[in-house]
Amino acid sequence: MTAIQKIGVIGAGQMGNGIAHVCAASGFDVVLLDISDEALKKGLGVIEKNLGRAVSKGKLTEADKAATLSRIKTTTAYADFGDSDLVIEAATEDEKVKRLIFQQLCPVLKPEAHIASNTSSLSITRLGAATDRPAKFMGMHFMNPVPVMQLVELIRGIATSEETFSLVRDMTLTLKKQPVSAEDFPAFIVNRILLPMINEAVYTLYEGVGSVTCIDTAMKLGANHPMGPLELADFIGLDVCLAVMQVLHEGLADSKYRPCPLLVKYVEAGWLGRKTGRGFYDYTGETPVPTR
Ligand code: NAD
Repeated sequence: MTAIQKIGVIGAGQMGNGIAHVCAASGFDVVLLDISDEALKKGLGVIEKNLGRAVSKGKLTEADKAATLSRIKTTTAYADFGDSDLVIEAATEDEKVKRLIFQQLCPVLKPEAHIASNTSSLSITRLGAATDRPAKFMGMHFMNPVPVMQLVELIRGIATSEETFSLVRDMTLTLKKQPVSAEDFPAFIVNRILLPMINEAVYTLYEGVGSVTCIDTAMKLGANHPMGPLELADFIGLDVCLAVMQVLHEGLADSKYRPCPLLVKYVEAGWLGRKTGRGFYDYTGETPVPTR
């Protein structure tokens, strides 16, 4: 066990609920915050469902499930982070939202508490500077779905202390995850490579080179990917994909990162993928149906 005992998680969406799940499963006390009781109920429902699935597969006992759930407390009040040792921010990928969160979070934290952001692409140095403790701030980039994926990218901002980095690395190991260290460049390692591929798949669809089914089948069978790129985009969330491409485009000032106009249009339409029931596939029926 690390020096960290109590974890706060901000955002109960697909990443936040997964982070709360794995932290509680590893014995940490977790406080999970979101903006509404509805978002918290939804997030907790996903955790219950995922734990239930592990029980039915024989990977977990009912008692483990109950113990994990009992370690998660939900709240809409920042004051409940008063005794947190580490708060992991996993709210919407929007710098303005995250800055506002840190403004509310910092005054309630104890001085020695650490903050990590699960941002997929934003500058850790800039986010850290928006807090009252840049030395105790770093990137902790979990992969989706959190309970399944082994990797956590750990990113130092320019001001992150070595003590903070090793504390969070030890805590990552306690979660039985594999940390890799990435420098603070737009989108770090995984998304710097993955998102341009997804964006290119959207261009391939936009230009009519192939249908949704043909593109996904081609990459599954031709490149041995477990999921097609459009299926994966829907899984990640098209708003998240667009936000990462925008950060790459602006941050690296290279036209090769220009977000595909079709991706922009889908996000404008509110077709964000699985989480809204429609993206490159329609998820409202029994099985996903390609939309183009
Ligand atoms: P999501 O849309 O599923 O969830 C975001 C949650 O944040 C929602 O529940 C929303 O209500 C909440 N939220 C919004 N504003 C808030 C505020 N002011 N205070 C508290 N909660 C607030 O998004 P997600 O996919 O879980 O992404 C969350 C973060 O994780 C983003 O920074 C994203 O880049 C990153 N991330 C996403 C993935 C992925 O595959 N989706 C992978 C790694 C990292």
